[in-house]
Amino acid sequence: MWPPAASWKALGVVSLLLALGLEGATWFLLYFLRERRRRRSSLPEVLFFPAPPTCTEGLLRPSRPVPCVCGLPHTESSLSRLMLRLLSARRTLELCLFSFSNPQLARTVLLLHKRRVQVRLIADSDYMAVRGSQVGVLRKAGIEVRHDQHAGYMHHKFAVVDKTVLITGSLNWTTQAIQTNRENILILEDAVVVKAFLEEFERIWQEYDPACYVFFPGRK
Ligand SMILES: [Zn+2]
Repeated sequence: MWPPAASWKALGVVSLLLALGLEGATWFLLYFLRERRRRRSSLPEVLFFPAPPTCTEGLLRPSRPVPCVCGLPHTESSLSRLMLRLLSARRTLELCLFSFSNPQLARTVLLLHKRRVQVRLIADSDYMAVRGSQVGVLRKAGIEVRHDQHAGYMHHKFAVVDKTVLITGSLNWTTQAIQTNRENILILEDAVVVKAFLEEFERIWQEYDPACYVFFPGRK
């Protein structure tokens, strides 16, 4: 015997409510996870070095074949955290770096350049020419680079992501510093502090405009 029409109707309402409930729960879970990720990525963060060598291919080549058999630990490190914060860039990346020779960080910057993030790099003229420097590699890839012509070092070590996140500290972007030295990195989104660093970047960027270079100092 078939149940009365009223029972079918009730069953239909219950099914609808269950479906809606399931969809709502899924939506809430996704929202919660997204918010948690957003809050985590916008929190101030302090990173200390040295960082042990770890595999960062998962960040640089998300479509790589798995499992990775490189032999390095596949754990989070201060370097991978730094790379993650850089890789969050969507529009702009300002780099003001005394020494830049670490290949993993260079690949991170190249990846952002490939993703059409506008990258500008200020380097020190003495250190951009040292062995292993990645400045030439980045320049060849089409990234705009400017450097000083002064006796004093361009000794800053900071980056600004999307004009909102400042990454600064004692760390030179060299493998030696990353794996050997005691160094610190502070990552924060304080608008006043970020604005001051962006102004400093623009000041130096203008000052190091190639149009202002003196190629034969002393010659009249
Ligand atoms: Zn690996």
